[in-house]
Amino acid sequence: MAIRRAADHWVWSGGPVPPGSDGITLGSLVIVKTDHTRRLLRHERVHVEQWRRLGVSLFLWRYVTSYLRWRWRGYPHKGAYRRIPLEVEAYWRERVDHDPDPDNLAAFVTGIE
Ligand SMILES: [Zn+2]
Repeated sequence: MAIRRAADHWVWSGGPVPPGSDGITLGSLVIVKTDHTRRLLRHERVHVEQWRRLGVSLFLWRYVTSYLRWRWRGYPHKGAYRRIPLEVEAYWRERVDHDPDPDNLAAFVTGIE
């Protein structure tokens, strides 16, 4: 377990993450499993930016209400989670920052389960 300072946030490797999850971001603190990937860190860093951009209340409101809306429409947990716009942005940017190919957008969007 180690906490280190990244560019503009903290990364806690080996800290507590939700069951079935590889990481979570709470404001400026990114918590990941010890065997995390660089791609996951790119994903979580997008969430750091989102927390800053929206603030705590709006981030949580948008995240939770979007998830519940998709669940209400009948999607299972993972399907609802992957459709949350804040997650779509994070999953898209973790890819684009690594492999910027605009043609991937169609495959990315249609590939959501
Ligand atoms: Zn995420």
